[in-house]
Order: sequence, then C-alpha cells, then structure tokens
Amino acid sequence: MKLLEDIKFIIDDEIFKKLSTCVKNASPYEACGLIFGEIIEKKVEHGFEYHYLGQRFECIESTNKSTVAFLIDNIEELNEIYKTAAEKYNKRLISIFHSHPAGSSPSGVDTDNMKHLNEFKLFKNLIWTIMSAGNNDLDGFIYFNKEFFQILVEINKE
Ligand SMILES: [Zn+2]
Repeated sequence: MKLLEDIKFIIDDEIFKKLSTCVKNASPYEACGLIFGEIIEKKVEHGFEYHYLGQRFECIESTNKSTVAFLIDNIEELNEIYKTAAEKYNKRLISIFHSHPAGSSPSGVDTDNMKHLNEFKLFKNLIWTIMSAGNNDLDGFIYFNKEFFQILVEINKE
C-alpha cells in the first residue's frame, strides 16, 4: 500500500496506552474503538499536511460480536456509540480503531469496510488504525480519492 505522507495520525503516549489496554482486555477477541480529536491543516513547503490529532479514546466493550466488521454491518449501533461518545468528549471522530491477533495491515474485509463506511458523511475520510495484539505495533490507513493509502503514525512519548 502506498504511503500518503501528507496525512499524519498523532497521539500522545497516554492514548497509546489506552489503545493497548483496550486490545489486552478484548483478548482473545478483536478489540475496537473510536478515537476523537481534531484535524488541523498545516502549511508546509510543498503544500499542506493534515494532522489528525487523537485526544480521546472510546474502547468499545468487547464481546465476540463487537468487532469492527460487526459494527459496520450494524451502522445504527455504531451511530449510537458514536453519538454518546461524541457528546461526552465534545470532539470530532477522527479514527476507527481495531486490533488483529498479529499484524497491523488491513485485511480484505477491512478494505471493503473502509470503502463502505466512507460513503457515510459522518465516517468519511477517517483514518483506520490497526494494532497488532502481538507486539502493539500501530499503523494507520485511509481510503482517500478512491485509493487506499498507509499514513504516518506518530506517538509522542513523554
Ligand atoms: Zn481488521
């Protein structure tokens, strides 16, 4: 997958730890959650960069069924979870998060879902973050202009 260098997903260590805990607690199932924050446009030499700043994380309590694929098949339920969390945090949704037992690349089902979810105004141009439960590697992806890209993930350690 091509790397889109104009888009960066940036979180502090505190959020990274919350993601890791969510993954650990969901084991052996897939964890999922929603990341809220802001998107800022930054002027750089060659044009613009878009920084997705993850500031709040809502871990969706895991049962066998609450995988990201299940939620996308049940948009109304996803919407409910989104609405409750968005009110609580008063931030915009910037990323859909989930885990894989090993590896942090999107599966075929994930890319289908990325494309599908992008058709909803609320879920358009979101970053899909995937964490490998094996080693907590975190990668980010976006479906943008009808193409799939990997984006840069930055974790700011204290
Ligand atoms: Zn997946």
